Amino acid sequence: MAEDYEKQDGPEEIPGETGDPKDTENEYEKVCFLCRRPESRAGKMFELPNHVHICTECMQKSFNAMNNSNVNYMDLMKHMPNISMIDLTNMAGQVPKKQQVKKKAKKKEKAPKTIDLRNIPAPHRIKASLDDYIIGQEHAKKVMSVAVYNHYKRVATDTMDEIEIEKSNMLMIGPTGSGKTYLVKTLAKLLDVPLAITDATSLTEAGYIGDDIESVVSKLLAAADNDVERAEHGIIFIDEIDKIAKKRNTNQRDVSGEAVQQGMLKLLEGSDIEVPVGANSKNAMVPLTTVNTRNILFICGGAYPELENIIKERLNKQASIGFHADLKDKYDGDDTLLEKVTVEDLKNFGMIPEFLGRLPVIFTLRGLTEEMLVQILKEPKNAILKQYQKLLALDEVKLEFEEGALEAIAKKAMEKKTGARALRAILEEYMLDIMYEIPKDDSIGQVIITREYIEGTGGPQILLRGQEAPLLESKA
Ligand code: ADP
Repeated sequence: MAEDYEKQDGPEEIPGETGDPKDTENEYEKVCFLCRRPESRAGKMFELPNHVHICTECMQKSFNAMNNSNVNYMDLMKHMPNISMIDLTNMAGQVPKKQQVKKKAKKKEKAPKTIDLRNIPAPHRIKASLDDYIIGQEHAKKVMSVAVYNHYKRVATDTMDEIEIEKSNMLMIGPTGSGKTYLVKTLAKLLDVPLAITDATSLTEAGYIGDDIESVVSKLLAAADNDVERAEHGIIFIDEIDKIAKKRNTNQRDVSGEAVQQGMLKLLEGSDIEVPVGANSKNAMVPLTTVNTRNILFICGGAYPELENIIKERLNKQASIGFHADLKDKYDGDDTLLEKVTVEDLKNFGMIPEFLGRLPVIFTLRGLTEEMLVQILKEPKNAILKQYQKLLALDEVKLEFEEGALEAIAKKAMEKKTGARALRAILEEYMLDIMYEIPKDDSIGQVIITREYIEGTGGPQILLRGQEAPLLESKA
């Protein structure tokens, strides 16, 4: 009986709302026409004609309002010019799909996507998969694999006894372009969980210009296709976290710094957050739903540019006390300095202790070296070179790079000081002419990018079909 009831009341298909023909109406919850709460929050709905739903509470309120005054509204309306009752029929079905909450899957149907303890890959397997995509950063990959494994083990067992496993939220520190975002993206893809990426600089305390802090959860919900249950197992990556350090020497309210850290505390720890569905901010027209952040993995990342000086200062201070006084410049030029970071240093940088306390896994990424950049060009599963080779292969043209050319590209990228991010831009610049010219001439069979071409002292080597150089083939 209950099933019949549900089947009847799905609103009619609104063609073109999502563009997805598979979109079945029964996947979405009913939303109260007056208070915009979905059925899972507001309870059973009354159904009015034309698929308008009203929750019990709003219905009761309307009756109460009418009963408490002796005015007969209907009669009154009839006699007033220019006033008519709102015609609900015109407004039916106005809530767009992206603002509707998906019904929670029924228990027996949800087998495939839920996290199963036996299905969580062991840390070494997670790391091995990361190795396919990420060059170097061995320590970071190891720490992350263990943290993620523990996190999802905790989610799967869902222990609520006295030994509650702590959340493994992470803080990663590393120079720009060293692969922070890429690591998180790869991880989310491997684990098949939704991921939301936000820039901490866009966040402000609720009520001020900017996105309020809870909007990150709303983004995750969107990434999970409005499926609350999936979102609750997702990952939220907050980039540029160093930009919300406490501002020094300020008398004004620090709405985008310390206040944001404060505001994030309850999110990181786990609490019920009321989020708008399909929008970034709460307003009267957007339905709300509740997402619990207890099992959401938060990963914060930042470059922390001045942190090295803070670490150096601390180490120098320690070293200059006592008989073993060291030279003052001992740590200058030490590229492992960042790895010596302590919570104390981060506090000095301007992160509040409560915030750091909720990010128990802290690790650093190294700046990329020239050799690593060469590897990044050619080794990962979807390496940039492989992508260009595939593109040209579609035109039946072989593309190869001399080792010297790769070194020259890496050298140019190092000069830009934006890590691996510069690689694509540089390569794009050199490949533009090639991608433009090759399709013009059917007789070209192979292109070899030479060091001279990258350094501007020569051109690429172009070979006609049938004359391809066999020697270089193995290099690609
Ligand atoms: P950031 O540390 O600033 O977040 P990103 O993760 O956005 O840097 O890196 C930019 C791009 O550089 C990535 O999309 C990826 O293609 C490449 N990249 C960076 N580091 C690595 C790495 N260690 N291995 C492979 N590719 C990398």
